[in-house]
Amino acid sequence: MGQRIGLFGGTFDPPHSGHLAAALAARDALELDRILLVVANEPWQKLDKRNLTAAHHRLAMTELLVKNIDGIEASDMEIARGGLSYTIDTVLQLQDVGHEVVLVLGADAAGGLNSWERAEELSRLVRVAVVDRPGHRLPKLDNWSIDKISAASLDVSSSQVRSLMSEGTSTAGSIPSAVKGYIDFHQLEWPGH
Ligand code: ATP
Ligand code: MG
Repeated sequence: MGQRIGLFGGTFDPPHSGHLAAALAARDALELDRILLVVANEPWQKLDKRNLTAAHHRLAMTELLVKNIDGIEASDMEIARGGLSYTIDTVLQLQDVGHEVVLVLGADAAGGLNSWERAEELSRLVRVAVVDRPGHRLPKLDNWSIDKISAASLDVSSSQVRSLMSEGTSTAGSIPSAVKGYIDFHQLEWPGH
């Protein structure tokens, strides 16, 4: 049976409490059967900027972030598909098996929607739910069907967490202890942030 699925994609390098708060807000605001945190295999818009953590580590951390949380799951769809990760391919894959897809993203990511692969086609396939993100305003996007989710969003980003880690500063409050435990155990590092 087709489900109504929230597709919340990202690099999740590493996943943090802001991602979780956004996913919870979307789950509660939209009538979704489930929200998938889809971990990008190769996020083409970020590739030349820095060395990304291996996809299997980013997936494992995302699984820990949402462990035991109702209606929210980590997804390996893009990793399983391999190569560059384009959201539109993930949307089509879900729609092909009968699911309805709502694209969930933070206000910063919403600003870039028109630069996404096959943006115009994507805009015709999905509704978009934009979650508040501190410091970012919802841009004007006339060609997309946008719903705004007001949430008690957290001022946390992966970049912030990466630089705290590199400086050896505490990340308590920014990432759950299970994710921190994984990072320590596998000695993941972000030298150039
Ligand atoms: P980076 O700093 O490396 O860009 P990030 O924290 O922005 O990492 P991403 O993996 O780039 O995380 O983002 C995935 C999705 O999560 C995007 O749609 C982004 O807008 C959203 N997001 C990330 N952090 C927050 C937050 N604190 N509140 C709301 N949405 C967020
Ligand atoms: Mg980002």
